[in-house]
Amino acid sequence: MSSKVIPLMDRRQTLAIPALPPQAPVRGAALHDSRGRPLRDLRISVTDRCNFRCVYCMPREAFGKDHAFLPHHALLSFEEITRVARIAADHGVEKIRLTGGEPLLRKNIEVLIGMLAGLRRPDGQPLDLTLTTNGSLLARKAVALKAAGLRRVTVSLDALDDACFRRMNDADHSVADVLAGIEAAQAAGLAPVKINMVVKRGTNDDQILPLARFFRGSGHILRFIEYMDVGSTNGWRMDEVLPSATVIARIHAEMPLVAVPSSHQGEVAQRWRYADGSGEIGVISSVTQAFCGSCTRARLSTEGKLYTCLFASAGHDLRALLRGDASDERLATMLAGIWQGRTDRYSEIRGAAGSTDERIEMSYIGG
Ligand code: SAM
Ligand code: SF4
Ligand code: SF4
Repeated sequence: MSSKVIPLMDRRQTLAIPALPPQAPVRGAALHDSRGRPLRDLRISVTDRCNFRCVYCMPREAFGKDHAFLPHHALLSFEEITRVARIAADHGVEKIRLTGGEPLLRKNIEVLIGMLAGLRRPDGQPLDLTLTTNGSLLARKAVALKAAGLRRVTVSLDALDDACFRRMNDADHSVADVLAGIEAAQAAGLAPVKINMVVKRGTNDDQILPLARFFRGSGHILRFIEYMDVGSTNGWRMDEVLPSATVIARIHAEMPLVAVPSSHQGEVAQRWRYADGSGEIGVISSVTQAFCGSCTRARLSTEGKLYTCLFASAGHDLRALLRGDASDERLATMLAGIWQGRTDRYSEIRGAAGSTDERIEMSYIGG
């Protein structure tokens, strides 16, 4: 094993409170940012800890035994998370994804799911409540998650070959555990299960076809994600990105594909179906085909900072307001001010003048 130590810069800075609108936003009125994009999705990181050390996300050299994770009192409580989610739902958020770190490591996560499942949008509809997990604890938690009100799960799986998978997660977790989690999720009704494979050229791209063959006809939706330059510890290089177009070409050569039109604004995956009707796959091309123009996502970090972009270098401290005496109206005004002032489009301007190299780690902000 390498003894190289990658210094982890603390980029968790706080942004100043933005200029606030003169009045609190009206419940039910959508918020739009400076580029006309509505606020629709909220991703909530419930822990910065993880039992994996994926080479592209939490490399062991940076997240070793001495790494200082957040203390419990720094995390937003379930009540605080639910309050932010309720106010966000009042102002256009339709979908919530729980993430991390590994969200299933957060104690009593099903209690939080139950609280979020009880929220209603202004039209009376429940939120679309999902969760992204590495799958290692899913087999034992799937039934409880479904019973609490979770609708679907996305499971990350970067290889079908066990040796390759262990090299990717660098924590000795087996493919069999994750496959058992996927089957348990399907059986519990958390379906269709989406499966995310991060493709790193030269590391696991030989697993594209084995995974495609394995999940074809299963009813699960396999999605290939371009390796992204999130954070500053993964040593990202453009030549390790395999463009989604190449992924599609490789699969199409063996199993013919037909493009599927996108079903809604802000859909991050480009969808394809097998020509013989044996299922659907997707590609998420955040590097080669930026989708900032339709990005409707805000992210709430584990300690309550609101980020308007995955590649932001700083967030707005909502926890200070939640733990102060801020009213719901004040929080809604704050949310409106943050979203309306949003200009982010990092993937569109990656590498150009004005783009930043100071990026928050994905395990902290949530994927
Ligand atoms: N631990 C959970 C998991 O792995 O599914 C949830 C958190 S993880 C940060 C969320 C998603 O981000 C996963 O699908 C993961 O593969 C993806 N991800 C992490 N680092 C990435 C990178 N550098 N490029 C592309 N995707 C990445
Ligand atoms: Fe953990 Fe998920 Fe990051 Fe892998 S991608 S290290 S499982 S948070
Ligand atoms: Fe959205 Fe930022 Fe990603 Fe663009 S780079 S799609 S604005 S999260």
